[in-house]
Amino acid sequence: MPSDYRTEGGTAVEAAGEDGRLRVSGAEAKRVKREALGVPDRVKHQQRVAVPMQRRTPEADTRQRVYRYRCYPSPAQAEQLIKTFGACRWTYNEGLALRDKAWREHRVALGFADSCRALTGWRNAEGTRWLQEVSSTVLQQALRHLDAAFGRFFKGSGRQPKRKKKGRSRDSATYVRTGFRWGEDTERPGTGLIALAKQPGPLRVRWSRPLPAGVRPVKLTVSRDRAGRFFVSVLVEERIKPLPPVFLRDGGGPKAVGLDLGLAALVTLDDGEKVDHPRLLKKYGAKLADLQRSLHRKERGSRNRDKARQEIARLYALIADVRRDALDQLTTRLVRENQVLVVEDLAVASLVRSPRGKGRRRKAGLNRAILDAAWGELLRQLRYKCAWYGRTLVIVDRFFPSTRRCSACGATGPKLDLSVRSWSCDGCGAVHDRDVNAARNLREEGLRLYGLVAALPPGRVMPSVIKASEMPDVVLTA
Ligand SMILES: [Zn+2]
Repeated sequence: MPSDYRTEGGTAVEAAGEDGRLRVSGAEAKRVKREALGVPDRVKHQQRVAVPMQRRTPEADTRQRVYRYRCYPSPAQAEQLIKTFGACRWTYNEGLALRDKAWREHRVALGFADSCRALTGWRNAEGTRWLQEVSSTVLQQALRHLDAAFGRFFKGSGRQPKRKKKGRSRDSATYVRTGFRWGEDTERPGTGLIALAKQPGPLRVRWSRPLPAGVRPVKLTVSRDRAGRFFVSVLVEERIKPLPPVFLRDGGGPKAVGLDLGLAALVTLDDGEKVDHPRLLKKYGAKLADLQRSLHRKERGSRNRDKARQEIARLYALIADVRRDALDQLTTRLVRENQVLVVEDLAVASLVRSPRGKGRRRKAGLNRAILDAAWGELLRQLRYKCAWYGRTLVIVDRFFPSTRRCSACGATGPKLDLSVRSWSCDGCGAVHDRDVNAARNLREEGLRLYGLVAALPPGRVMPSVIKASEMPDVVLTA
């Protein structure tokens, strides 16, 4: 329906119909909904109507956090879950079609509450009574996701909602508070029993790490990835205590660390420590390239192609898991031990090297992608952990010459080729490891920026992220 929406200043708006009619509302809209669309009027006091979710403002020191676990449904449960995924997809698509029809043919705008009332009709209709085998709150959540997708579309931050396709869209179902039961295991706090609505028996969950003890899950999302594995994502509200600040002894400044992101080592610390890349490159890079090549040789639409695609999906999922876990430990340690963490703008790091040589291009491209993802994940974790624990992440400008500058005397050396791993300064004769020198420079520059912000009029809370490119604003507006 390209003519049904037009853009205005970058955001989508509903366009007038072919006959020039604008939005129909009031009693006329009610009549159209009832008679043409099969959406009954709202019946007060007789029927419980889904109320739009109120955005509860969490308390200042609580944060919503998602914990994701692998789960192993029994065959009966798996069957019911797959039915649920299908029903969610069906409901989403049907809600989308109804909204489109209402607008295209009648210029009536349907909202979340309307589609929920339509859902009640579908559940009782002759041909679609199978929807009753699935919890209604779960299906309402599918309509909620649709509504949110439209919201993003009209705000200009999302594309026009499209139909979900089996096998193409992610299988998932969301259970809100009334859709599941939770019982915490008193002997193993942070783990417990999850029973989903319309499911036989509790769900078997592998509690790879406990939830914070005593919290009650707010929302659960059960999903299945393309490799056929089931997961449950548990949303909780937890109270996070900032860690005590770490300062140098004898009245020194905040304890800081400079982090150089690189190819030779994932991270080099300014004290010389080098953290290797999780050995994903060596281990999976070649295999991934092989799989991808073989996928391209398989006939389109064939079973073998499907199989190959699944295998790739499984490998990607594995790589992501291993990487997340490895980085989790590293970032927790770094954030615990330091008050200020300094990195360079990622844009710099990702420019580092383009693949050389013809035959190696594809493999290099894949390696590249794995590297980029590792750096991205590292920064993502540092950002949120700094915010949680009262630390500051300083992101140094991309034009800062972290590599060329001598960290001993401050002289700027010549531009270094990437193959040069160490160099000596013409000015003071210091011999530098390329990455350690860069990390030292970053640390120093980060502390300088941190000092500028800290020197601003008192009463300011140190921000959890200081970005050099936004520094002028910070200093000027203070
Ligand atoms: Zn020097």
